[in-house]
Amino acid sequence: MVPLLSELLGLPGIDVESYSVLEAGLILDVETHTESACCPRCGTVNRHLHQNHWHLVRHLPISHYRQTWLCVNRRQFKCAVCGKPFSEDFDFMGARRSYSDRYAESVVRQVIHSDTVNVARQQGLSEDIVWSMVEYVSAKKLHRGNGTPPSGHR
Ligand SMILES: [Zn+2]
Repeated sequence: MVPLLSELLGLPGIDVESYSVLEAGLILDVETHTESACCPRCGTVNRHLHQNHWHLVRHLPISHYRQTWLCVNRRQFKCAVCGKPFSEDFDFMGARRSYSDRYAESVVRQVIHSDTVNVARQQGLSEDIVWSMVEYVSAKKLHRGNGTPPSGHR
């Protein structure tokens, strides 16, 4: 574990295990420490790991690195009761997203003061991704207080 980077990352329950510095930016290999996940269908708490799924998730820049990515293992569990595989949920990002909530919120704040074309260029993102962040963050704000945003919303 790299304590300083974990501290700088500031995501509760997430530790930075290692990192790589690339020309494009910084990749942090992160690890969560939950050993179980709750089946979204029947609510059973499961510990039986089905598969590992590694994803790169864009996050807020750390220090002077323009682009920061988290390499996250979104584990798939297989429910012992209903037999269906499911992926674990993370507090810091939505399902099937390629960016963290905090990063999406910061991009949306930039869009408010500029426009999607400029923000996309500055961040090295496609305009489609920037628009998906705008939709995601507004849906999340609308649903604040009664749970998570609708899954599958894009
Ligand atoms: Zn189940």
